[in-house]
Amino acid sequence: MKKFFALLIAALLFATTPAQAAEHIDNADNAADLAGASAEKFYATLPKAKGEYKSRQRPILIEGAMNTETEVLVRALKNPVVYRELNYLFVAGTYKNYPVVIARTEQGLTNSAASTTLAIKKFNPVAVINQGTAGGVIPSLPIGSVVIGEKSIPASALKSEYSAAGAGVDFTKQEMRGTYAYDETTKNFQPYKEYFADKTLLNVAKKVAAAHKEFNVTTGTIGSADWWMCWVDYTNLLHERHGMTSEEMETASVAQICQNAGVPFIGIRVISDNITITDEYNPYSAKIAQDFVLLVVEDYIRDVLKK
Ligand code: SAH
Repeated sequence: MKKFFALLIAALLFATTPAQAAEHIDNADNAADLAGASAEKFYATLPKAKGEYKSRQRPILIEGAMNTETEVLVRALKNPVVYRELNYLFVAGTYKNYPVVIARTEQGLTNSAASTTLAIKKFNPVAVINQGTAGGVIPSLPIGSVVIGEKSIPASALKSEYSAAGAGVDFTKQEMRGTYAYDETTKNFQPYKEYFADKTLLNVAKKVAAAHKEFNVTTGTIGSADWWMCWVDYTNLLHERHGMTSEEMETASVAQICQNAGVPFIGIRVISDNITITDEYNPYSAKIAQDFVLLVVEDYIRDVLKK
């Protein structure tokens, strides 16, 4: 029965997403992989790293929370080796003859921050791209479309107005507080209500979008919190007040760590669900973000790092 539904979703996605994205979704085994069933099995097939990471060039770090969101990237690497740090997985290799590290951050703000911190210490990346799936909160973002995160917001970092016991809760009575990140000018940790993508990474991503019309791409604001927000009035409020067009659970947290460490960062997401259309999560969409990000990485290597 499960297999039937997996195939049904694959077939539906095939009909609704770009040809390039759908061409690899070809059989039920792949469907099981994409659903995360074989995550550990897959990582176990890769050779373990021997000794400390060494690279003449600083690698690009690409992150995804789950196996479905990283497997396409890992398979694109040449000479992949696995590092395990505090049970977070990293795969180092090369892509287009340039060092690249893929991090499987695991889900949520805390895991993605921890994984990013470990990776920055261990691999000294030249840039960080966090990617994966996200829920659309406006009707114009169909499943399979890509959102380039011009900025991200820590959506749950808020202070509510006081209301007495039994008085009920009015969630509109709140203000965004931000999360604390290092500010190079004041040499202090300051609250940030939004984190902006690195301009160079953003420009490269926009150029890729313009050159690859098979992807349906917009730029927008990604909201991150440890929640799956299905109250449409609430996502509408976040859209109206803060411009949030999609929600997920990692980007703003990774942006915060990258700001602390002074590492260029961008978040790029594919819409896997959209509360204004359906709350069903489509795991197959994860491949689209990875395909798009590989194009961004290729151009970033060629036009920025090798210039
Ligand atoms: N197997 C999981 C699916 C993962 S959803 C399940 O069905 O429970 C959570 C992950 O996907 C997070 O890493 C988050 O970044 C992303 N995500 C996708 N859509 C989301 C949404 N609408 N809200 C929150 N996180 C979402």
